[in-house]
Amino acid sequence: MSSTAKQRSAWRDVPSEQWNDLRWQLSNLVRTTDELGALLGLPERELSAIRAQSQRFRWAISPYYFSLIDPSDPSDPICRMVVPSADEDTSEGEDDPLGEKRDQVAPGLTHRYPDRVLFVVTSFCSSYCRFCIRKRNWRHSDAARSRAEIDEAIAYLRAHEEVRDVLISGGDPLTLPHEQLEYILSQVRSVPHVELVRIGSREPVMLPMRFDDALLRLLDRHGPLWINTHFNHPRELTEEAARATEKLARLGIPLGNQTVLLAGVNDDLPTLKALFQGLLRIRVRPYYLYQADPVVGAMHLRTSVERGIELIEGLRGHTTGLAVPTFVVDAPGGGGKIPVGPEYVVERRDGAIVLRNYAGETFVYKDPTMTAKSPRKRALPLIPTAAERDGE
Ligand code: SF4
Repeated sequence: MSSTAKQRSAWRDVPSEQWNDLRWQLSNLVRTTDELGALLGLPERELSAIRAQSQRFRWAISPYYFSLIDPSDPSDPICRMVVPSADEDTSEGEDDPLGEKRDQVAPGLTHRYPDRVLFVVTSFCSSYCRFCIRKRNWRHSDAARSRAEIDEAIAYLRAHEEVRDVLISGGDPLTLPHEQLEYILSQVRSVPHVELVRIGSREPVMLPMRFDDALLRLLDRHGPLWINTHFNHPRELTEEAARATEKLARLGIPLGNQTVLLAGVNDDLPTLKALFQGLLRIRVRPYYLYQADPVVGAMHLRTSVERGIELIEGLRGHTTGLAVPTFVVDAPGGGGKIPVGPEYVVERRDGAIVLRNYAGETFVYKDPTMTAKSPRKRALPLIPTAAERDGE
């Protein structure tokens, strides 16, 4: 963890009181190419490419998050996540790779799975990630922003008793003014059949000073809540971030982390291992590792699925299971998350399966559901036998 990033940064002379003040951070966002040029020493050729991209994709970076960049490293992973680049200049990729718009049933509300909904309540973030799957919202927001739009979404929830789980997302919902957040949480909580309220937020990563006493009291009033956050690199595990996650954990809010696998950012084993082990140290459970979706302007950040499987193989058994997230691919067009991973079943035989462990050793495991004497023989045909596979 590093808390010295500020001391090394262009903001080294800003007093801590200001640095730790949310309003100061938000009113000093880095958002012009001239500032970028000065802070990173970028050549004019690159700056003009960024200027051109700025018309297409929004960008802004909080001084806190910017301070994590090493300006002397041209391949800096933090820089790659938030600083626009000429690589975004492509028409490849999709606006809405998960087909969220297609299943939108009310402002901001996507209802695809039987018992849960996604509720997008803002398109604002304190810093904008180049790999974001909701870039489309940066231009034409689908979010429920006005009271009337929120009320329309809540009316849908009330009318659909099958919905028991609401994921409040954005943009970043924890950037909203308290009054707006209070209204949204109280309205969602007032729907009797909603049992689970989750918030997706990258603020513990981007702007941990956001978690002041007033916000913590607000969240506490509407518990139980679950927060999914989004750390992608071990350098994001700063002392400030650790203080934010500790405050949330002390409120009894379970914290899960969703990492996106990104080329040139975290697609190597030492980086991912340090990230996942470090997350556990700050009370956050690595939950999903996502294959990066084919989002327009972010194709250069994608790796192969095979690479993700290799990385999970390098983690499983080599560190605590709590530090190994599930690697998932979001199926195109809204097919949902599909877990993919290394194959540990080497062979299927009648009454047994042959397994291999993390070190490559094999073991014959007698499978009770497949023994000849078992009355449930073949009642649960979870795994086809080799003969079945071969069509015999
Ligand atoms: S914080 Fe989340 S919603 Fe905002 S730009 Fe990053 S990935 Fe997208």
